[in-house]
Amino acid sequence: MTCPDGPVGAGVRRTGRGAVSAAFVHLHVHSHFSLLDGVGSPAALAQEARRLGMPALALTDLGWAHGAVAFYRAAREAGIQPILGCEVLFDPVDDPAVRRTGGGRAGGGRAPLHHLTLLVRDETGYRHLNRLLTAAATGSAGGPGGGAVGGGGAASGLPRVTPALLQQFGRGLIALSGCPQGQVPALLRAGRWDEAVRAAAEQRDWFDAYYIELPYRGEGEEARRLVGSLLRLARVLDLPVVATCEVHYPRPQDAVAHRILRALGDPGRLVPPCTPPTSWPLPPPAPGRCRPRRWRLRFLLTL
Ligand SMILES: [Zn+2]
Repeated sequence: MTCPDGPVGAGVRRTGRGAVSAAFVHLHVHSHFSLLDGVGSPAALAQEARRLGMPALALTDLGWAHGAVAFYRAAREAGIQPILGCEVLFDPVDDPAVRRTGGGRAGGGRAPLHHLTLLVRDETGYRHLNRLLTAAATGSAGGPGGGAVGGGGAASGLPRVTPALLQQFGRGLIALSGCPQGQVPALLRAGRWDEAVRAAAEQRDWFDAYYIELPYRGEGEEARRLVGSLLRLARVLDLPVVATCEVHYPRPQDAVAHRILRALGDPGRLVPPCTPPTSWPLPPPAPGRCRPRRWRLRFLLTL
């Protein structure tokens, strides 16, 4: 359950030590507890990770951490280190009234929700993750001083986590800035550099550790541009980076089942097989095909 030294993924910088690990441990992984977006049980993922020789594996289901206990037991049984976590739905606006009007954004409209990847660092982090999700789901938080903190409720069907909740329960947690739907990547994709820097600097202070997540989404121009911007931002704020390769199913042959599952949640549209790929089986992409070899080299050079 513990993750004492921070994330261990491809291209991770060990701040202050100067060493760079090339080992790959998946830190952004969905099981079938990510409803309509994950194929395979936590146990299947743990067993496949073991078969592939991985020493550890994270579980970061979307919105909830219902698979945590099953995953912890299965990973222990498989002899790998479980890293518990959750990809939370992050609402950057605390005040519901402001949120409804778009957070003061030009043009109004409802403020968008973002993804944020959280990993449990220790027992405190596990307790905080549970309290965070409970508070976000019920719209209240029982902190040491009691009283409600705006959680946003679960109107979307998933708990919405706000800055106030993360400030209250961020200790013991390690955060990654998220997939392209994360707040920081979304601002970068929109060309809002200053806001992205401000958002990352703010999020950094809520957690025990904060990493800029470099999501591998193929080698298209847009994906490359995003990674370049994220690396630049990491340099500006002196933040460590971690590469992720978002997993939604344990084996390559589960890809069809995953596409069908996605289609159930998005009626009338089957996700095309490879245009562009946004999720992967558990093994890192094969060398020479879609492994971000060049990007890894850039990570090493940049860091
Ligand atoms: Zn995810």
